[in-house]
Amino acid sequence: MMVNFSALLAEARKGQYAVGSFNVYNYETIRGVVDAGNELGYPTIVAFGENYLPNMELEEIAAVVKAMSAKADIPLVLHLDHCKSFTTIVKAIKAGLTSIMYDGSSLPFADNMKKTAEIVAIAHAAGVSVEAELGAIGGGEFSNEESAEEIYTNPDQAAEFVSTTKVDALAVSIGTVHGMYKGTPKVDVDVLKKIASCVDIPLVLHGGSGTPVDIVHECIRNGIAKINVNTEISVYTVEKLKELVKSNKSYHLSQLALKEVDSVKEVVKKYSTMFRQA
Ligand SMILES: [Zn+2]
Repeated sequence: MMVNFSALLAEARKGQYAVGSFNVYNYETIRGVVDAGNELGYPTIVAFGENYLPNMELEEIAAVVKAMSAKADIPLVLHLDHCKSFTTIVKAIKAGLTSIMYDGSSLPFADNMKKTAEIVAIAHAAGVSVEAELGAIGGGEFSNEESAEEIYTNPDQAAEFVSTTKVDALAVSIGTVHGMYKGTPKVDVDVLKKIASCVDIPLVLHGGSGTPVDIVHECIRNGIAKINVNTEISVYTVEKLKELVKSNKSYHLSQLALKEVDSVKEVVKKYSTMFRQA
């Protein structure tokens, strides 16, 4: 079944666990994410970033996830990750994605709020959930997402932003980064606690890859209900495939594709399990 994330995340915030949101780029990565969720029995978010439009069209990914969800035993969300384009968001809604993230974080506060509210009105009319971002998330290593100068989310602004825009979930900047960490991550849980005390919607942590387990768990106990993982899926899988290609055995591409599925599954299972143990 394909659903939007509203009920799933509200339940997660109440139950102090997080739903994993995993980036996909092709058939194999989608298969890995869906199979992992299905085997664990956890509702799962299949995330597709605007960056990966050269890899797959929105209609194509929607068709693949819809076909897989018909056979899956878990609710699946198909989420458009980090999108700044109004046109792409409307196309995604029309294509059948059930959730979108409008990223207006680089805009001045008032503009971000105005645009987010407009998009929420359109998406909600179509039954699609919306995530927005306030503050800016910094960049680490191996990230191919846009990296910004890190700006922590302002808790007072978060309260105004949420009540004005009626957004369903809010991505916060508290020190996690897109990509792998260059040193020890400095995540400010106090900022998160302040935001969570002002805002009762589910909060979203970007930059799950490589974030230490104890920090992940503390974040979940303090309002984080959705955690995005992208870089580690790519880094881990590329390493695994490199090892296979370098080994003496020769592989057919179809066999490597199945290895890719297995490796994605491993990463997704690791994080999905971690997100349930806070
Ligand atoms: Zn992100």
